[in-house]
Amino acid sequence: MNIVDKLVGLIAPNICFGCGAEGSVLCADCTELFYNPIVSRCASCRTLTDDFKVCKTCRSWMPIKSVYVALGYDGLAEKLIHAYKFDCQRQASTPMADIMTKNFSFNDVLVCPVPTAPKRIRERGFDHALLLSKNIAKKLELEHRQLLSRRDNIRQLGSGRAQRIRQMKDEFEVNSDDISGKKVLLIDDVVTTGASLAAAARVLRDAGAKSVSALVFAQKNR
Ligand SMILES: [Zn+2]
Ligand SMILES: [Zn+2]
Repeated sequence: MNIVDKLVGLIAPNICFGCGAEGSVLCADCTELFYNPIVSRCASCRTLTDDFKVCKTCRSWMPIKSVYVALGYDGLAEKLIHAYKFDCQRQASTPMADIMTKNFSFNDVLVCPVPTAPKRIRERGFDHALLLSKNIAKKLELEHRQLLSRRDNIRQLGSGRAQRIRQMKDEFEVNSDDISGKKVLLIDDVVTTGASLAAAARVLRDAGAKSVSALVFAQKNR
């Protein structure tokens, strides 16, 4: 827990969303209730697949091997994300990282956040994806690298998938010159259409990454 969280905690102690106990947004006992894995599907079309693989059809636009998803976006998962992103409760990243790392293991990958738009970071006072991915890398004892940066232009995105991916791709930039042959694990909090994951994966693959997978906290229905 960092100093800011400690100070905030002294003024207004956090209440567990699950059981109402004081001290944390999700206590250890309630965090364990989320350890059950969800059904493995393609993150884009939701067809059942093994090992959370992106199906062959969706791979044509989404160059990702697997998108590992911890939870569906509902109930306490939704509350936790809301607390984290909109109420700016940084400590929610701890139970989120616990839940995300419980059922999956990775070797020999660079852990990299899907970069947050700079405008959002300024609004929140912290970078939610970066904090989450640092926590995950630490828990899994993997190398953490910010391989991507994001341009500061939040535009109205087009409605068509192809248009959306093209626009998203222009937002991301690889800022490392030695990812050739590397395996990358992208971290994000929510996946909906998969357009931002696809765009981030595309620029990484174009820069020489051998493969890209993703680990996401929750999957939202479109
Ligand atoms: Zn609890
Ligand atoms: Zn699919």
